[in-house]
Amino acid sequence: MEGVDRLTTDGLAIFLFHGVVRQSRYAVRNYTGKHMERDRFYRIVEGLKHAGSALSMDEVVDHCQSGRRFPPRAFVVTFDDGFENNFSIAAPILKEFSVPATFYITTGFVEHNAMSWIDRIEHCLEEVSSGVLQFGWDERTHSFATVEDKIGVLKLIRDRVKTDPKIDSDEVVEMVCAQCGVAEVCHSAEPIDQKMSWEQVARLGDDELFTIGGHSHGHKILSFLSAEELEAEIATSIDLIQEKIGLRVRHYSYPEGLEHCYSNEVIEVLRGQGVVCCPTAVDGINDPQTDLFRLRRIMIT
Ligand SMILES: [Zn+2]
Repeated sequence: MEGVDRLTTDGLAIFLFHGVVRQSRYAVRNYTGKHMERDRFYRIVEGLKHAGSALSMDEVVDHCQSGRRFPPRAFVVTFDDGFENNFSIAAPILKEFSVPATFYITTGFVEHNAMSWIDRIEHCLEEVSSGVLQFGWDERTHSFATVEDKIGVLKLIRDRVKTDPKIDSDEVVEMVCAQCGVAEVCHSAEPIDQKMSWEQVARLGDDELFTIGGHSHGHKILSFLSAEELEAEIATSIDLIQEKIGLRVRHYSYPEGLEHCYSNEVIEVLRGQGVVCCPTAVDGINDPQTDLFRLRRIMIT
């Protein structure tokens, strides 16, 4: 069964979700499966609850700091980014099964109900029927007329922007929308776009089953930033959570979370701000000796 198939006798499986929606009826948007449908999420949580031992991230910290074994078939549920559907759809299911979860919030998304750069590009390509794109980084042109073409173009853009520190993601959004002749969209009330309000973040944080963590302010890849930008990105997010909901976060997750997206420097800045644990998005299972700043997670898409 999905999710349960990743549980192991001694290891810890940390699942990474982004969103849960009633239904996903887009051609292009959500092609990665970042937002899963409610019924599927329900079955995954139900299956995990019956087959495994649910832990909170605080319990993970306790186990790793003491080197104590995890309970059998241990798992953790985490969400990144701060989508409203985490509050309205996922949290009630987690409550029903008493499964703890940590919600890592991108404070700039919550503050402005903002969409990430890639969600803005996906929105643009959903809107336009066909077109030709040329990017600033090479001479090639990319024409698209079908859903498959559009997904191919999106993969190219994703790969490039996530690995090239010189590229400004906001400029890529501007360039793509201009070439497609589609107005740029920064906010939307669609269930795959809407972010939590601070009140909703606070209500989740007040529930003893749930933990709020940080996930940067502008969702920038932390290892790409200068020392000053890095300090500001992390401090802004942590201070804003404290100001808005009165919580000093101990938990954080790296935007994108791939191996090149964090570094010893990033980890030192997080530690300096009082963070004790920061999982990655690198796939794998953890043991009690795994570094709390290099924990692996499993994304079900
Ligand atoms: Zn994220």
